[in-house]
Amino acid sequence: MVLEKYKQKRNFKSTPEPSGDLDLAAAHAKKQGTEKSRFFCVQKHLASHLHYDFRLEHNGVLLSWAVPKGPALDTKTKRLAMMVEDHPIEYGTFEGVIPEGYGAGIVMLWDVGTWTPQVDDVDAALKKGDLKFTLDGYKLKGSWVLVRTSGRYPGGGNRSWLLIKYKDEWAGDVDIVEFAPKSVKSNGDFEDILAADKPDVWVSNRPAKGGEAGEMLAKIIERAAALKAGGKTEAPAKKAAPKAPARKSAAKPAPTAKKKPAPATKRGSKRS
Ligand code: MN
Repeated sequence: MVLEKYKQKRNFKSTPEPSGDLDLAAAHAKKQGTEKSRFFCVQKHLASHLHYDFRLEHNGVLLSWAVPKGPALDTKTKRLAMMVEDHPIEYGTFEGVIPEGYGAGIVMLWDVGTWTPQVDDVDAALKKGDLKFTLDGYKLKGSWVLVRTSGRYPGGGNRSWLLIKYKDEWAGDVDIVEFAPKSVKSNGDFEDILAADKPDVWVSNRPAKGGEAGEMLAKIIERAAALKAGGKTEAPAKKAAPKAPARKSAAKPAPTAKKKPAPATKRGSKRS
């Protein structure tokens, strides 16, 4: 059944994730025959481990791969991509906090756009384990390939693929996950998404602890709680603070030296 695994893994009474509308899936599958390009998205998911969920619309669902390190624009870098269960089309706009259960953590919509297969038969390409395509997202563009590797990664079985950028004008050395870390939906970081959701629920339902991710989550919760409680008490993160333009001619310190920083550093706690 379509989306069977997706539904099995989740309790829709406790997760804010979409439950998966089968009529919508059927409608999208039907529409697909008439359109060349289809929906794609990447969701940055802070769960027990940080990873990037790479999703391509096909036959009315989102084919999904979990990419631990995220996509790379450098053509020599092959990123492991573990194929996971198909996700519903509606998942493609989801961003928020999954307080408990499967995938508990924070989901950020990291990139979104369209993809176009560079093969005539996508099902055959998937079966063969070699899918070439182009992406037209905000962050990811140009020509890519997903190649299945069997048995090269312990425990991976035939679910392990590699996501690789092909050489074109969009390839390069920029570390895109570092360069463009935020949401394309809300422009927020994880803590902004958390603060916009319900931190009280979050604090009483902490997901998997331990390891780096656990520490990271604890820090995120703290920061989000501070944002929620008092608003502006938190010092902005280093790289978020824009450098004041160095104006040599105006080097004289302002008389009100201890003036509060302008509230212009506010970064998208508002959801769009
Ligand atoms: Mn995930």
